[in-house]
Parts: sequence; C-alpha cells; structure tokens
Amino acid sequence: MPVTTPNRTPYRKGQNRNWQNPPPRRPAPRRREDWYAMRRRRRRRHLARGLVMAACLCVVAGAVLLLLPSLMQQESDAAGATAAAPTPEPAAAAAAQTDTRPVVAIDPGHGGADPGSEGLGFDEYEMTWATANALYDLLEQDGRLRPHLTISEEESQNHDIARIRPSERAQRANEAGAALLLSIHGNSDPIYDASGYECYAIPPGNANHEESVRFAEYLTAQFSSLGQRLRGENGIRYLYYGENDEQIMTESSDETVSSNPTFGVLEYAACPAVLSEQCFITNSADVDLLGDADGCETAAGLYYNAICAWFGLEPAV
Ligand SMILES: [Zn+2]
Repeated sequence: MPVTTPNRTPYRKGQNRNWQNPPPRRPAPRRREDWYAMRRRRRRRHLARGLVMAACLCVVAGAVLLLLPSLMQQESDAAGATAAAPTPEPAAAAAAQTDTRPVVAIDPGHGGADPGSEGLGFDEYEMTWATANALYDLLEQDGRLRPHLTISEEESQNHDIARIRPSERAQRANEAGAALLLSIHGNSDPIYDASGYECYAIPPGNANHEESVRFAEYLTAQFSSLGQRLRGENGIRYLYYGENDEQIMTESSDETVSSNPTFGVLEYAACPAVLSEQCFITNSADVDLLGDADGCETAAGLYYNAICAWFGLEPAV
C-alpha cells in the first residue's frame, strides 16, 4: 500500500510571508533622549500628583483640627449628661437646699431598745413619739418653719433597734441646720405623787445659754397658762452629771458656771435647745391633761405656741 502522506506543506522559513503587502513595521526603538524625556514627564506627573495629595491631606487635617475642639466638647457634654443622669439630685434634697425657712428640730425622747420610764398604761417613748408627731404636723401646717425629727419611726417604735444616744440626736439636729431644738420627755415618780411641769435649759457659761433660757420661759408660760404647776422656782432648771455620773440639779436662778456636762442632747446641740419634761407619766392628773392621746395633742399645741413666740411669730394654726 502506498503510504498516504498528510496534506501539508513542509514548513520553510519565510514561506508564508507576504512580501508584496508587508505588515507595518514595529516602531523603531526609542532613542535614549526620548527615554529621558519620558522619565522627566513621568517624574513631573508623580510630583504633581504628590502635590495634589499633600494639598488634600492639608485640607483634611485643617478641617479635623478646626472641628476637633467642638467634637470633644460635644463628647464631654454627652459624657457629663450621661454621668449626671444615673444620680439625679433627689427632689427633696434640692428643695431643702433652696428652703430658707428656719429648721426646728424635734427630738422624741427614748425609743428603740430604750422605752424610757413606765407610765400609767404606756411607756415614755410612746408619749414622746405621739407628741413630737403632732407638733411636726402643726409646724408643717403653719409652713413658716421647717420641722425635723431627730429619729425615725422605726428608731422610736422598734424595740430591736439600739438606743439612739442623746449626743447623736443633737448631732442630727446640727446636721439638719436646726435653729432651735426641743427634746420631749416625760417625768416619772416611783410613788406616783409628783406632778407639774419643768424643763431644762443649756446651763450658764455655754453657747446659746441665754436663747435657751428664753425658749424655756416661753415653754413654762404656755404650760402654766393651762393651769399646770411649775416645779421648782419657775419650772426652768439646769442639770449636771457629777463625777460618779450622779445627777445634780439647780434652779435657773443659779448662774454658777460649772464644768460638769449636762444632758447630752443639750451638751452637743449647736443651737438653743431645751429638754422638756412634758408631764409626770406616773400621775393620773398629769396624764389626763398632757400624757394621753388628747394630752399629747394639747402639749403639741403648747410647744407650737412657744416656738412661734421664740421666732417672733404669731401662731397661725
Ligand atoms: Zn426621758
């Protein structure tokens, strides 16, 4: 069999070239001078582009510098608002700061684990709490003075709570900015015989002594006007604790200055203060007049009148 040769023409160099119509010639290689010119143009383009970029950066940086302070201020304002938001000032505290009315501190004697003396069917702390609250209500109705209780209802009525010391009560009155402090107590007598009204002022030689006595005089005038007998010379006395903690009592006419301490609530008060023995809670006539529920209301009215007088106000309730 003859060998079939493939239908192809063997390749020869330059065989397919169209010599009559040659393809366009390649551009001649650039001359060296052109290459340098091209590099110079490229450098100029790079330089111009760099200058444009630098100008843009300058503009952006300037804008940031101009806006930064106001942005920071806004941020700090926002932070301040956020910081202030969780702890808004209580309305009561804000109102107290703008309330310029004089503060009258009312101290309901005893309470908690210390019931005070035992009266005819009640304990001293019950009478002092009832009277103090009735007085608080009167002062609040009046509105010209700001009453402040030195202890809470819980501290007064809950026997499981430790006794609030007299010095602590005075300190609380001081912290409230009290202009006047009245500590309410009830007298007691083991043989159920004693009766009448007495109160204790800040002793001579101490700050606020004169103003304390002036308040005591208004108090005795009020209780006397009800027909209550004033004990001692005029119902106003001083009390001192001796070396062995014994009580030493003097009349208000005794102006001797003593270094012995007096009742803690008077000793530590930063304002005129008086401790009032409202009535003998061991005497039925006294209790009927000033110790039972009606008596506490009556006593509160007398205290209110005396407080108004001390401040130079006419009673308005
Ligand atoms: Zn007492």
